[in-house]
Amino acid sequence: MRQSTRARTELETARSRLARIDAELPRGDQQRTVGLKALRREVRVSFEVEEARADRAVIVQLLIDFRDVSGAEEAIYWRWVPERECLMPAIWSSEGTRPSFFSITEWAPLVQCSAEHGVVQIKSQEESVHVGAAPIQRGETLMGVLSLTHRTGLGWSQSSLRDWLPRLADQLGTVQELVDVRRRHTRDMRQGQALLDAVQRLEGHRTGDDLARAFCETALDVSGARAAALVRWSPEADGGELAYTTEGTGLRAPATLEGGSIVGEACRAGKLQVLEDSRAAALGQGIYGVPRTVQEPGSVAIVPLVSGGRVLGALVVEGAEAKALSLEEARHLTVLAAVVASPLELAWQFSEVDKRARTDPLTGLWNRHHFGERLQQTLSEADRRGSPVSLVLVDIDHFKRVNDSWGHQAGDAVLKQVARILQDGVREVDTCVRYGGEEIAVLLPDTDSQSAVDVAERLRTKIRALPLHHGATAISVTASFGVATYPETVKVRDQLFPAADKALYIAKHEGRDRVRAKPATRGRTTS
Ligand code: GH3
Ligand code: MG
Ligand code: MG
Repeated sequence: MRQSTRARTELETARSRLARIDAELPRGDQQRTVGLKALRREVRVSFEVEEARADRAVIVQLLIDFRDVSGAEEAIYWRWVPERECLMPAIWSSEGTRPSFFSITEWAPLVQCSAEHGVVQIKSQEESVHVGAAPIQRGETLMGVLSLTHRTGLGWSQSSLRDWLPRLADQLGTVQELVDVRRRHTRDMRQGQALLDAVQRLEGHRTGDDLARAFCETALDVSGARAAALVRWSPEADGGELAYTTEGTGLRAPATLEGGSIVGEACRAGKLQVLEDSRAAALGQGIYGVPRTVQEPGSVAIVPLVSGGRVLGALVVEGAEAKALSLEEARHLTVLAAVVASPLELAWQFSEVDKRARTDPLTGLWNRHHFGERLQQTLSEADRRGSPVSLVLVDIDHFKRVNDSWGHQAGDAVLKQVARILQDGVREVDTCVRYGGEEIAVLLPDTDSQSAVDVAERLRTKIRALPLHHGATAISVTASFGVATYPETVKVRDQLFPAADKALYIAKHEGRDRVRAKPATRGRTTS
Protein backbone atom coordinates (compact mmCIF):
# COMPACT_ATOMS: atom_id res chain seq x y z
CA MET A 1 0.00 0.00 0.00
CA ARG A 2 2.72 2.43 1.04
CA GLN A 3 4.65 1.35 -2.05
CA SER A 4 1.77 2.10 -4.43
CA THR A 5 1.01 5.53 -2.89
CA ARG A 6 4.65 6.36 -3.25
CA ALA A 7 4.75 5.13 -6.81
CA ARG A 8 1.78 7.33 -7.70
CA THR A 9 3.38 10.36 -6.14
CA GLU A 10 6.59 9.65 -8.03
CA LEU A 11 4.70 9.32 -11.26
CA GLU A 12 2.95 12.63 -10.76
CA THR A 13 6.23 14.31 -9.91
CA ALA A 14 7.73 12.86 -13.05
CA ARG A 15 4.83 14.10 -15.17
CA SER A 16 4.99 17.63 -13.84
CA ARG A 17 8.73 17.54 -14.37
CA LEU A 18 8.28 16.63 -18.03
CA ALA A 19 5.66 19.36 -18.45
CA ARG A 20 8.08 21.90 -16.98
CA ILE A 21 10.89 20.71 -19.20
CA ASP A 22 8.69 21.03 -22.24
CA ALA A 23 7.77 24.58 -21.23
CA GLU A 24 11.44 25.48 -20.79
CA LEU A 25 12.55 24.21 -24.17
CA PRO A 26 13.02 26.95 -26.75
CA ARG A 27 10.24 26.97 -29.33
CA GLY A 28 11.20 26.63 -32.95
CA ASP A 29 8.80 29.35 -34.00
CA GLN A 30 10.39 31.87 -31.61
CA GLN A 31 13.50 31.82 -33.78
CA ARG A 32 12.01 32.78 -37.10
CA THR A 33 12.98 36.40 -37.37
CA VAL A 34 16.76 36.10 -37.39
CA GLY A 35 17.09 36.90 -41.10
CA LEU A 36 19.49 35.62 -43.68
CA LYS A 37 22.59 36.26 -41.58
CA ALA A 38 21.59 33.18 -39.54
CA LEU A 39 23.36 31.09 -42.17
CA ARG A 40 26.72 32.64 -41.46
CA ARG A 41 29.04 30.35 -39.67
CA GLU A 42 29.78 32.67 -36.71
CA VAL A 43 26.09 33.46 -36.21
CA ARG A 44 25.20 29.80 -36.53
CA VAL A 45 27.82 28.83 -33.97
CA SER A 46 26.65 31.47 -31.51
CA PHE A 47 23.06 30.24 -31.86
CA GLU A 48 24.15 26.68 -31.34
CA VAL A 49 26.23 27.54 -28.29
CA GLU A 50 23.25 29.36 -26.79
CA GLU A 51 20.92 26.47 -27.52
CA ALA A 52 23.33 23.91 -26.10
CA ARG A 53 23.52 26.01 -22.93
CA ALA A 54 19.73 26.11 -22.65
CA ASP A 55 19.44 22.36 -23.30
CA ARG A 56 22.06 21.63 -20.71
CA ALA A 57 20.17 23.68 -18.12
CA VAL A 58 17.08 21.54 -18.77
CA ILE A 59 18.99 18.33 -18.11
CA VAL A 60 20.78 19.74 -15.07
CA GLN A 61 17.37 20.51 -13.56
CA LEU A 62 16.19 16.99 -14.30
CA LEU A 63 19.27 15.53 -12.61
CA ILE A 64 18.74 17.77 -9.57
CA ASP A 65 15.21 16.39 -9.32
CA PHE A 66 16.50 12.81 -9.59
CA ARG A 67 19.07 13.51 -6.90
CA ASP A 68 16.49 14.99 -4.54
CA VAL A 69 13.85 12.36 -5.06
CA SER A 70 16.30 9.52 -4.46
CA GLY A 71 18.08 11.19 -1.56
CA ALA A 72 21.35 11.05 -3.48
CA GLU A 73 24.31 13.35 -3.17
CA GLU A 74 24.82 13.54 -6.92
CA ALA A 75 23.16 12.44 -10.14
CA ILE A 76 25.32 12.16 -13.25
CA TYR A 77 24.49 11.66 -16.89
CA TRP A 78 27.35 9.76 -18.48
CA ARG A 79 27.43 9.93 -22.23
CA TRP A 80 28.65 6.94 -24.21
CA VAL A 81 31.37 7.86 -26.71
CA PRO A 82 31.20 5.11 -29.35
CA GLU A 83 34.45 6.08 -31.11
CA ARG A 84 36.39 5.59 -27.89
CA GLU A 85 34.07 2.98 -26.38
CA CYS A 86 34.00 4.75 -23.06
CA LEU A 87 31.76 6.86 -20.88
CA MET A 88 32.30 10.54 -20.20
CA PRO A 89 30.49 12.51 -17.52
CA ALA A 90 28.34 14.85 -19.64
CA ILE A 91 26.05 16.64 -17.19
CA TRP A 92 25.71 16.45 -13.39
CA SER A 93 23.50 17.80 -10.63
CA SER A 94 26.22 19.51 -8.62
CA GLU A 95 27.79 22.82 -9.54
CA GLY A 96 31.32 23.02 -10.85
CA THR A 97 33.24 22.03 -13.89
CA ARG A 98 33.14 18.34 -12.97
CA PRO A 99 31.21 16.04 -10.64
CA SER A 100 31.95 16.85 -7.00
CA PHE A 101 31.13 13.68 -5.08
CA PHE A 102 31.81 10.82 -7.43
CA SER A 103 34.66 8.52 -6.56
CA ILE A 104 36.19 7.46 -9.82
CA THR A 105 38.39 4.76 -8.36
CA GLU A 106 35.65 3.12 -6.33
CA TRP A 107 32.57 3.56 -8.51
CA ALA A 108 33.62 4.04 -12.12
CA PRO A 109 33.98 0.29 -12.89
CA LEU A 110 30.41 -0.22 -11.78
CA VAL A 111 29.11 2.53 -14.08
CA GLN A 112 31.20 1.16 -16.95
CA CYS A 113 29.81 -2.31 -16.29
CA SER A 114 26.25 -0.99 -16.47
CA ALA A 115 27.00 0.43 -19.89
CA GLU A 116 28.74 -2.66 -21.18
CA HIS A 117 26.12 -5.17 -20.01
CA GLY A 118 23.10 -2.94 -20.29
CA VAL A 119 21.93 -3.69 -16.77
CA VAL A 120 21.31 -1.85 -13.52
CA GLN A 121 24.26 -1.97 -11.16
CA ILE A 122 23.99 -1.31 -7.46
CA LYS A 123 26.65 -1.09 -4.84
CA SER A 124 25.59 -1.33 -1.22
CA GLN A 125 27.18 -1.93 2.13
CA GLU A 126 25.02 -3.49 4.74
CA GLU A 127 21.78 -1.50 4.68
CA SER A 128 23.03 1.60 2.86
CA VAL A 129 23.16 1.93 -0.92
CA HIS A 130 26.05 4.04 -2.22
CA VAL A 131 25.77 3.73 -5.99
CA GLY A 132 23.10 2.97 -8.52
CA ALA A 133 23.80 2.98 -12.26
CA ALA A 134 21.33 2.29 -15.06
CA PRO A 135 21.92 2.28 -18.82
CA ILE A 136 20.10 4.81 -20.99
CA GLN A 137 19.08 3.07 -24.17
CA ARG A 138 17.14 4.04 -27.21
CA GLY A 139 16.20 0.87 -29.03
CA GLU A 140 19.48 -0.93 -29.60
CA THR A 141 21.54 2.19 -29.12
CA LEU A 142 23.26 2.98 -25.89
CA MET A 143 23.11 6.70 -25.10
CA GLY A 144 24.83 6.53 -21.75
CA VAL A 145 24.34 5.80 -18.08
CA LEU A 146 22.54 7.54 -15.23
CA SER A 147 24.26 7.24 -11.88
CA LEU A 148 22.96 8.18 -8.44
CA THR A 149 25.49 8.23 -5.64
CA HIS A 150 25.89 9.05 -1.97
CA ARG A 151 29.02 8.50 0.05
CA THR A 152 27.04 7.54 3.18
CA GLY A 153 23.95 6.07 1.55
CA LEU A 154 21.03 7.05 -0.73
CA GLY A 155 17.57 7.73 0.59
CA TRP A 156 16.19 4.82 -1.40
CA SER A 157 16.41 1.19 -0.48
CA GLN A 158 18.05 -1.28 -2.81
CA SER A 159 14.67 -2.52 -4.06
CA SER A 160 13.29 0.99 -4.66
CA LEU A 161 16.43 1.81 -6.57
CA ARG A 162 16.18 -1.35 -8.67
CA ASP A 163 12.57 -0.41 -9.34
CA TRP A 164 13.00 3.28 -10.07
CA LEU A 165 16.43 3.75 -11.48
CA PRO A 166 15.62 2.25 -14.95
CA ARG A 167 12.58 4.50 -15.21
CA LEU A 168 14.57 7.60 -14.34
CA ALA A 169 17.21 6.56 -16.89
CA ASP A 170 14.47 6.14 -19.45
CA GLN A 171 13.07 9.56 -18.61
CA LEU A 172 16.49 11.09 -19.02
CA GLY A 173 16.81 9.37 -22.41
CA THR A 174 13.44 10.71 -23.49
CA VAL A 175 14.27 14.25 -22.49
CA GLN A 176 17.67 14.08 -24.19
CA GLU A 177 15.97 12.84 -27.34
CA LEU A 178 13.37 15.56 -27.13
CA VAL A 179 16.08 18.17 -26.74
CA ASP A 180 18.02 16.77 -29.73
CA VAL A 181 14.97 16.68 -31.98
CA ARG A 182 13.98 20.15 -30.90
CA ARG A 183 17.45 21.48 -31.61
CA ARG A 184 17.55 19.96 -35.09
CA HIS A 185 14.09 21.28 -35.80
CA THR A 186 14.98 24.79 -34.62
CA ARG A 187 18.12 24.76 -36.75
CA ASP A 188 16.28 23.58 -39.83
CA MET A 189 13.55 26.18 -39.32
CA ARG A 190 16.12 28.92 -38.86
CA GLN A 191 18.09 27.91 -41.94
CA GLY A 192 14.97 27.46 -44.02
CA GLN A 193 13.68 30.87 -43.02
CA ALA A 194 17.04 32.49 -43.65
CA LEU A 195 17.25 30.95 -47.11
CA LEU A 196 13.73 32.11 -47.83
CA ASP A 197 14.71 35.65 -46.79
CA ALA A 198 17.74 35.41 -49.06
CA VAL A 199 15.69 34.17 -51.99
CA GLN A 200 13.20 37.00 -51.49
CA ARG A 201 16.04 39.48 -51.75
CA LEU A 202 16.77 38.15 -55.22
CA GLU A 203 13.31 38.91 -56.53
CA GLY A 204 12.40 41.97 -58.56
CA HIS A 205 15.75 42.66 -60.25
CA ARG A 206 15.19 43.18 -63.94
CA THR A 207 18.59 43.70 -65.48
CA GLY A 208 21.44 41.21 -65.42
CA ASP A 209 23.64 43.71 -63.60
CA ASP A 210 21.08 44.34 -60.86
CA LEU A 211 20.49 40.66 -60.37
CA ALA A 212 24.22 39.91 -60.38
CA ARG A 213 24.79 42.57 -57.73
CA ALA A 214 21.89 41.34 -55.56
CA PHE A 215 23.10 37.75 -55.92
CA CYS A 216 26.68 38.54 -54.92
CA GLU A 217 25.64 40.73 -51.99
CA THR A 218 23.17 38.17 -50.71
CA ALA A 219 25.82 35.47 -51.03
CA LEU A 220 28.13 37.61 -48.87
CA ASP A 221 25.44 38.12 -46.23
CA VAL A 222 24.64 34.44 -46.14
CA SER A 223 28.23 33.21 -46.01
CA GLY A 224 29.93 36.05 -44.16
CA ALA A 225 32.68 35.86 -46.79
CA ARG A 226 34.88 38.84 -47.72
CA ALA A 227 34.10 38.99 -51.43
CA ALA A 228 32.15 37.44 -54.26
CA ALA A 229 32.36 37.34 -58.03
CA LEU A 230 29.92 36.25 -60.65
CA VAL A 231 31.45 34.51 -63.64
CA ARG A 232 29.66 34.12 -66.93
CA TRP A 233 30.66 31.05 -68.86
CA SER A 234 30.01 29.96 -72.41
CA PRO A 235 30.37 26.20 -72.97
CA GLU A 236 30.27 26.82 -76.75
CA ALA A 237 33.18 29.24 -76.66
CA ASP A 238 34.85 27.31 -73.80
CA GLY A 239 35.55 30.64 -72.13
CA GLY A 240 34.19 33.04 -69.61
CA GLU A 241 34.38 36.47 -68.09
CA LEU A 242 33.99 38.11 -64.73
CA ALA A 243 30.53 39.63 -65.06
CA TYR A 244 30.33 41.19 -61.60
CA THR A 245 32.72 41.52 -58.68
CA THR A 246 32.27 42.95 -55.19
CA GLU A 247 34.86 45.41 -53.97
CA GLY A 248 36.68 42.92 -51.74
CA THR A 249 37.89 40.89 -54.72
CA GLY A 250 40.24 43.65 -55.83
CA LEU A 251 39.11 42.82 -59.38
CA ARG A 252 37.21 44.84 -61.93
CA ALA A 253 34.44 43.47 -64.07
CA PRO A 254 34.18 42.88 -66.93
CA ALA A 255 37.44 40.99 -67.33
CA THR A 256 38.32 37.85 -69.24
CA LEU A 257 38.58 34.72 -67.16
CA GLU A 258 41.65 32.58 -67.75
CA GLY A 259 40.38 29.28 -69.19
CA GLY A 260 42.98 27.25 -67.29
CA SER A 261 42.28 28.93 -63.95
CA ILE A 262 40.61 27.11 -61.08
CA VAL A 263 37.30 28.87 -61.71
CA GLY A 264 37.60 28.21 -65.46
CA GLU A 265 38.03 24.50 -64.83
CA ALA A 266 35.21 24.44 -62.30
CA CYS A 267 32.91 26.06 -64.89
CA ARG A 268 33.96 23.53 -67.50
CA ALA A 269 33.19 20.68 -65.10
CA GLY A 270 30.01 22.36 -63.80
CA LYS A 271 30.72 20.99 -60.33
CA LEU A 272 30.62 22.55 -56.91
CA GLN A 273 34.12 23.04 -55.59
CA VAL A 274 35.22 24.14 -52.15
CA LEU A 275 38.85 24.94 -51.44
CA GLU A 276 39.09 25.20 -47.68
CA ASP A 277 42.69 26.31 -48.07
CA SER A 278 43.14 28.09 -51.38
CA ARG A 279 46.43 29.94 -50.89
CA ALA A 280 48.66 27.47 -52.69
CA ALA A 281 46.15 27.11 -55.54
CA ALA A 282 45.85 30.89 -55.85
CA LEU A 283 49.59 31.28 -56.22
CA GLY A 284 49.95 28.33 -58.59
CA GLN A 285 47.18 27.90 -61.12
CA GLY A 286 45.38 31.11 -60.10
CA ILE A 287 41.77 31.45 -58.98
CA TYR A 288 40.71 33.48 -62.03
CA GLY A 289 44.06 33.93 -63.72
CA VAL A 290 43.58 37.71 -63.42
CA PRO A 291 46.04 39.81 -61.41
CA ARG A 292 44.48 41.65 -58.51
CA THR A 293 45.21 44.36 -55.99
CA VAL A 294 44.33 42.50 -52.78
CA GLN A 295 45.74 39.45 -51.03
CA GLU A 296 44.59 36.14 -52.44
CA PRO A 297 41.75 34.53 -50.46
CA GLY A 298 42.34 31.84 -47.82
CA SER A 299 39.34 29.79 -48.89
CA VAL A 300 37.11 29.71 -51.94
CA ALA A 301 33.75 28.19 -52.81
CA ILE A 302 32.85 27.89 -56.50
CA VAL A 303 29.15 27.28 -57.01
CA PRO A 304 28.13 26.48 -60.60
CA LEU A 305 25.12 28.17 -62.15
CA VAL A 306 23.25 25.67 -64.24
CA SER A 307 20.08 26.19 -66.23
CA GLY A 308 18.49 23.46 -68.34
CA GLY A 309 21.62 21.33 -67.97
CA ARG A 310 23.83 24.07 -69.38
CA VAL A 311 26.53 25.77 -67.32
CA LEU A 312 25.92 29.53 -67.41
CA GLY A 313 28.70 30.43 -65.05
CA ALA A 314 29.59 30.30 -61.40
CA LEU A 315 29.32 32.22 -58.20
CA VAL A 316 32.74 32.47 -56.57
CA VAL A 317 32.79 33.32 -52.89
CA GLU A 318 36.07 34.19 -51.19
CA GLY A 319 36.88 33.84 -47.50
CA ALA A 320 39.76 35.87 -46.12
CA GLU A 321 41.06 33.01 -44.01
CA ALA A 322 41.65 29.33 -44.69
CA LYS A 323 38.65 27.26 -43.55
CA ALA A 324 36.41 30.35 -43.48
CA LEU A 325 34.28 28.57 -46.09
CA SER A 326 33.22 24.96 -45.98
CA LEU A 327 30.80 22.62 -47.70
CA GLU A 328 28.07 23.77 -45.30
CA GLU A 329 28.21 27.39 -46.57
CA ALA A 330 28.56 26.19 -50.14
CA ARG A 331 25.38 24.14 -49.83
CA HIS A 332 23.38 27.22 -48.83
CA LEU A 333 24.82 29.10 -51.78
CA THR A 334 23.83 26.23 -54.06
CA VAL A 335 20.20 26.87 -53.13
CA LEU A 336 20.56 30.55 -54.05
CA ALA A 337 22.33 29.63 -57.29
CA ALA A 338 19.48 27.28 -58.23
CA VAL A 339 16.98 30.08 -57.66
CA VAL A 340 18.93 32.71 -59.57
CA ALA A 341 20.17 30.65 -62.55
CA SER A 342 17.14 30.84 -64.79
CA PRO A 343 16.26 34.55 -64.25
CA LEU A 344 19.93 35.41 -64.69
CA GLU A 345 20.09 33.49 -67.95
CA LEU A 346 17.06 35.40 -69.22
CA ALA A 347 18.46 38.75 -68.11
CA TRP A 348 21.79 37.98 -69.76
CA GLN A 349 20.10 36.91 -72.97
CA PHE A 350 18.03 40.07 -72.94
CA SER A 351 21.00 42.32 -72.34
CA GLU A 352 22.88 40.58 -75.16
CA VAL A 353 20.07 41.23 -77.64
CA ASP A 354 19.72 44.77 -76.34
CA LYS A 355 23.45 45.35 -76.66
CA ARG A 356 23.47 44.00 -80.19
CA ALA A 357 20.70 46.44 -81.07
CA ARG A 358 22.85 49.27 -79.75
CA THR A 359 26.16 48.26 -81.27
CA ASP A 360 27.62 49.05 -84.65
CA PRO A 361 28.63 45.71 -86.20
CA LEU A 362 31.65 47.01 -88.14
CA THR A 363 33.49 48.90 -85.42
CA GLY A 364 31.95 47.42 -82.27
CA LEU A 365 31.30 50.99 -81.08
CA TRP A 366 27.87 52.05 -79.84
CA ASN A 367 25.44 53.15 -82.55
CA ARG A 368 23.26 56.23 -82.99
CA HIS A 369 20.32 54.66 -81.18
CA HIS A 370 22.38 54.22 -78.03
CA PHE A 371 23.99 57.62 -78.44
CA GLY A 372 20.66 59.45 -78.27
CA GLU A 373 19.80 57.86 -74.94
CA ARG A 374 23.28 58.12 -73.50
CA LEU A 375 23.55 61.80 -74.42
CA GLN A 376 20.31 62.66 -72.61
CA GLN A 377 21.32 60.58 -69.57
CA THR A 378 24.74 62.19 -69.39
CA LEU A 379 23.33 65.70 -69.71
CA SER A 380 20.77 65.04 -66.95
CA GLU A 381 23.51 63.68 -64.69
CA ALA A 382 25.61 66.78 -65.42
CA ASP A 383 22.66 69.03 -64.47
CA ARG A 384 22.14 67.12 -61.25
CA ARG A 385 25.79 67.19 -60.24
CA GLY A 386 26.64 70.57 -61.67
CA SER A 387 29.51 69.10 -63.71
CA PRO A 388 30.47 69.75 -67.35
CA VAL A 389 30.01 67.34 -70.29
CA SER A 390 32.05 67.56 -73.44
CA LEU A 391 31.17 66.19 -76.84
CA VAL A 392 33.92 65.53 -79.37
CA LEU A 393 32.97 64.81 -82.98
CA VAL A 394 35.60 63.10 -85.10
CA ASP A 395 35.56 62.85 -88.88
CA ILE A 396 38.24 61.07 -90.90
CA ASP A 397 39.79 63.35 -93.46
CA HIS A 398 39.43 62.56 -97.14
CA PHE A 399 38.11 59.16 -96.34
CA LYS A 400 36.57 58.90 -99.77
CA ARG A 401 40.13 58.83 -101.16
CA VAL A 402 40.97 55.82 -98.99
CA ASN A 403 38.08 53.95 -100.54
CA ASP A 404 38.95 55.18 -103.98
CA SER A 405 42.61 54.27 -103.72
CA TRP A 406 42.52 50.94 -101.85
CA GLY A 407 38.94 49.81 -102.09
CA HIS A 408 36.00 49.72 -99.74
CA GLN A 409 37.37 46.83 -97.71
CA ALA A 410 40.54 48.75 -96.97
CA GLY A 411 38.30 51.67 -95.96
CA ASP A 412 36.47 49.35 -93.56
CA ALA A 413 39.74 48.17 -92.06
CA VAL A 414 40.91 51.75 -91.53
CA LEU A 415 37.60 52.70 -89.96
CA LYS A 416 37.85 49.79 -87.52
CA GLN A 417 41.37 50.73 -86.52
CA VAL A 418 40.51 54.38 -86.00
CA ALA A 419 37.56 53.27 -83.87
CA ARG A 420 39.90 51.14 -81.75
CA ILE A 421 42.35 54.02 -81.28
CA LEU A 422 39.52 56.25 -80.08
CA GLN A 423 37.99 53.59 -77.85
CA ASP A 424 41.32 52.69 -76.26
CA GLY A 425 42.27 56.34 -75.87
CA VAL A 426 39.40 57.34 -73.61
CA ARG A 427 38.22 56.41 -70.11
CA GLU A 428 35.75 53.65 -69.33
CA VAL A 429 33.09 56.21 -68.41
CA ASP A 430 33.37 57.84 -71.83
CA THR A 431 31.14 56.72 -74.68
CA CYS A 432 32.36 56.23 -78.25
CA VAL A 433 29.65 56.13 -80.88
CA ARG A 434 29.71 55.67 -84.65
CA TYR A 435 27.03 58.14 -85.55
CA GLY A 436 27.63 58.32 -89.30
CA GLY A 437 29.75 56.73 -92.05
CA GLU A 438 33.25 57.76 -90.95
CA GLU A 439 32.09 60.01 -88.14
CA ILE A 440 32.56 59.10 -84.54
CA ALA A 441 31.30 60.92 -81.44
CA VAL A 442 33.00 60.74 -78.07
CA LEU A 443 30.97 61.77 -75.05
CA LEU A 444 33.09 62.79 -72.07
CA PRO A 445 31.27 63.23 -68.76
CA ASP A 446 32.90 65.40 -66.06
CA THR A 447 35.18 67.00 -68.62
CA ASP A 448 35.59 70.75 -69.19
CA SER A 449 36.35 72.30 -72.56
CA GLN A 450 40.11 72.53 -72.14
CA SER A 451 40.43 68.91 -70.98
CA ALA A 452 38.28 67.77 -73.89
CA VAL A 453 40.50 69.67 -76.33
CA ASP A 454 43.53 67.99 -74.74
CA VAL A 455 41.93 64.57 -75.14
CA ALA A 456 41.06 65.37 -78.77
CA GLU A 457 44.62 66.55 -79.47
CA ARG A 458 46.02 63.35 -78.02
CA LEU A 459 43.69 61.24 -80.17
CA ARG A 460 44.42 63.28 -83.29
CA THR A 461 48.19 62.82 -82.81
CA LYS A 462 47.73 59.09 -82.31
CA ILE A 463 45.70 58.65 -85.47
CA ARG A 464 48.07 60.58 -87.68
CA ALA A 465 51.16 58.91 -86.19
CA LEU A 466 50.12 55.35 -86.98
CA PRO A 467 50.12 53.70 -90.34
CA LEU A 468 46.92 51.65 -90.41
CA HIS A 469 47.03 48.27 -92.04
CA HIS A 470 44.95 46.50 -94.57
CA GLY A 471 46.70 43.29 -95.45
CA ALA A 472 50.16 44.33 -96.62
CA THR A 473 49.06 47.89 -97.34
CA ALA A 474 49.96 50.57 -94.81
CA ILE A 475 47.59 53.50 -94.98
CA SER A 476 48.00 56.80 -93.17
CA VAL A 477 45.03 58.95 -92.33
CA THR A 478 44.27 62.05 -90.33
CA ALA A 479 41.08 63.20 -88.68
CA SER A 480 39.44 66.47 -87.72
CA PHE A 481 37.84 67.16 -84.35
CA GLY A 482 35.06 69.47 -83.15
CA VAL A 483 34.55 70.05 -79.43
CA ALA A 484 31.68 71.61 -77.46
CA THR A 485 31.04 71.63 -73.72
CA TYR A 486 27.83 71.93 -71.72
CA PRO A 487 27.19 74.19 -69.89
CA GLU A 488 30.59 75.85 -70.25
CA THR A 489 30.50 76.82 -73.93
CA VAL A 490 26.95 75.75 -74.82
CA LYS A 491 24.18 76.89 -72.50
CA VAL A 492 21.34 74.93 -74.04
CA ARG A 493 21.42 71.13 -73.97
CA ASP A 494 19.96 70.73 -77.46
CA GLN A 495 22.72 72.89 -78.89
CA LEU A 496 25.59 70.65 -77.76
CA PHE A 497 25.63 68.46 -80.86
CA PRO A 498 25.13 71.27 -83.41
CA ALA A 499 27.88 73.28 -81.69
CA ALA A 500 30.36 70.40 -81.86
CA ASP A 501 29.36 69.79 -85.47
CA LYS A 502 29.98 73.43 -86.26
CA ALA A 503 33.41 73.29 -84.60
CA LEU A 504 34.19 70.19 -86.71
CA TYR A 505 33.11 72.04 -89.84
CA ILE A 506 35.51 74.83 -88.97
CA ALA A 507 38.34 72.33 -88.38
CA LYS A 508 37.70 70.90 -91.85
CA HIS A 509 37.43 74.35 -93.36
CA GLU A 510 40.68 75.48 -91.82
CA GLY A 511 42.61 72.62 -93.40
CA ARG A 512 41.66 69.37 -91.57
CA ASP A 513 43.83 67.32 -89.16
CA ARG A 514 43.08 69.72 -86.29
CA VAL A 515 40.93 70.26 -83.22
CA ARG A 516 38.54 73.15 -82.94
CA ALA A 517 36.34 73.97 -79.96
CA LYS A 518 33.30 76.13 -79.49
CA PRO A 519 34.61 79.06 -77.40
CA ALA A 520 32.91 80.20 -74.19
CA THR A 521 31.84 83.51 -75.71
CA ARG A 522 28.61 83.44 -77.65
CA GLY A 523 28.47 83.09 -81.37
CA ARG A 524 32.00 82.68 -82.69
CA THR A 525 33.94 79.49 -82.89
CA THR A 526 37.72 79.73 -82.81
CA SER A 527 40.71 77.61 -82.07
P1 GH3 B 1 36.34 65.06 -95.47
O1 GH3 B 1 37.73 65.25 -95.14
O2 GH3 B 1 35.68 66.31 -95.91
O3 GH3 B 1 35.59 64.42 -94.36
O4 GH3 B 1 36.34 64.09 -96.71
P2 GH3 B 1 35.72 62.67 -96.77
O5 GH3 B 1 36.12 62.06 -98.04
O6 GH3 B 1 36.10 61.93 -95.56
O7 GH3 B 1 34.19 62.97 -96.66
P3 GH3 B 1 32.97 62.57 -97.54
O8 GH3 B 1 31.78 62.87 -96.69
O9 GH3 B 1 33.06 63.22 -98.87
O10 GH3 B 1 33.07 61.04 -97.76
C1 GH3 B 1 32.90 60.10 -96.73
C2 GH3 B 1 33.18 58.77 -97.29
O11 GH3 B 1 33.16 57.75 -96.29
C3 GH3 B 1 32.16 58.37 -98.33
C4 GH3 B 1 31.81 56.95 -97.98
O12 GH3 B 1 31.97 56.12 -99.10
C5 GH3 B 1 32.78 56.59 -96.92
N1 GH3 B 1 32.19 55.68 -95.97
C6 GH3 B 1 31.15 55.90 -95.16
N2 GH3 B 1 30.88 54.80 -94.43
C7 GH3 B 1 31.78 53.86 -94.80
C8 GH3 B 1 32.01 52.51 -94.42
O13 GH3 B 1 31.36 51.94 -93.57
N3 GH3 B 1 33.03 51.86 -95.01
C9 GH3 B 1 33.80 52.47 -95.97
N4 GH3 B 1 34.77 51.77 -96.50
N5 GH3 B 1 33.59 53.71 -96.35
C10 GH3 B 1 32.60 54.42 -95.79
MG1 MG C 1 31.98 62.72 -93.07
MG1 MG D 1 35.43 62.60 -93.71
